[in-house]
Amino acid sequence: MDTIYVTSPLLPDLNEFEKYLEDIWAKKWITNNGQYHKQLEISLAEYLKVPYISLFTNGTLPLITALQALRITGEVITTPYSFVATTHALWWNGIKPVFVDIEPETGNIDPSKIEAAITPKTTAIMPVHVYGNPCKTKEIQDIADKYGLKVIYDAAHAFGVEVNGKSILNEGDISTLSFHATKVFNTIEGGAMVMHDEKTKKRIDYLKNFGFAGETEVIAPGINSKMDEIRAAYGLINLKQVDKAIESRHQTAIKYRNALRNVEGITFFDDIPGVKHNYSYFPIFIDSKKFGISRDELYAKMKTHDIFGRRYFYPLISEFSTYRGLESAKAENLPVAHKMAESVICLPMYAGMSDVDVERVIECIL
Ligand SMILES: *Cc1c(COP(=O)(O)O)cnc(C)c1O
Repeated sequence: MDTIYVTSPLLPDLNEFEKYLEDIWAKKWITNNGQYHKQLEISLAEYLKVPYISLFTNGTLPLITALQALRITGEVITTPYSFVATTHALWWNGIKPVFVDIEPETGNIDPSKIEAAITPKTTAIMPVHVYGNPCKTKEIQDIADKYGLKVIYDAAHAFGVEVNGKSILNEGDISTLSFHATKVFNTIEGGAMVMHDEKTKKRIDYLKNFGFAGETEVIAPGINSKMDEIRAAYGLINLKQVDKAIESRHQTAIKYRNALRNVEGITFFDDIPGVKHNYSYFPIFIDSKKFGISRDELYAKMKTHDIFGRRYFYPLISEFSTYRGLESAKAENLPVAHKMAESVICLPMYAGMSDVDVERVIECIL
């Protein structure tokens, strides 16, 4: 039997990709804001229903660059329940992360706990729409407005997610995306930043190109995080099939939910009314007392059946050596996050997952 991995990348049609490559070879323009880079920005802005977007080489650099662009310093309130890149981006800017606990309904930062974590040094809030579940953006914005804080959303999981017909990516001051191979939409490695106005877009475009504002003018200590033409072309082709891919993921989610709904000791997230989900992950949460075996025992059992789930997000970011010394990283400050991290397994979830494979995963669990 074949191994079932937690994900499988969405690949563009190879023949179509070859045609783009031939064109790139003919024009000999392979990076630096080329034709396909420009086209992908336009196509993505339209698809995602956002006014401005800037492409990056991955999903970590737009986080780091957003903090630079908004001149964030001091302390930033964030979630421990995410991929490490969220907090690393703060560290790379010399900013102290302040962890706040999450809410059990979504896995996202709990707005009711944010105010208690604000100090005179706080300059921003950096939440994550974890698994593509939308954060309580209104509550977060109200707090930010009250205290004069910026809000930067790590929206790496939230490609295409909408609330009442509006893109979640328009919330806050800036949102960032990852187009890594494992994500819903990928450009192999890649990412983007979403902003509200042309001025910010221009500044970000300078910052991702060393700060160059012209041939001889450098306006800020920028970085190099431009997406190249080959990945942009790959992205243009993948964008055409992303709706189909999300629908395929949706069907898998329906199958998992139907099979696991009444299983004692297993819980999962249901769709939220008014939200257009992207089914980026399918986390289940194991209550070992009720289920009979622990999360780690189930995880190991799946492995023996050649099924690779992933414990996203375990350990919590606040448990890694770099961060565990922080006052806000103490376990008693983060009980909900600890509980979730200790009970989660993300089941295999990707476009085109066969019925046979979904069935194998379900049977292994039951
Ligand atoms: C994937 C991911 C990132 C980093 O993106 P890369 O493209 O791998 O650099 C950042 N934050 C979250 C929540 C992610 O899942």
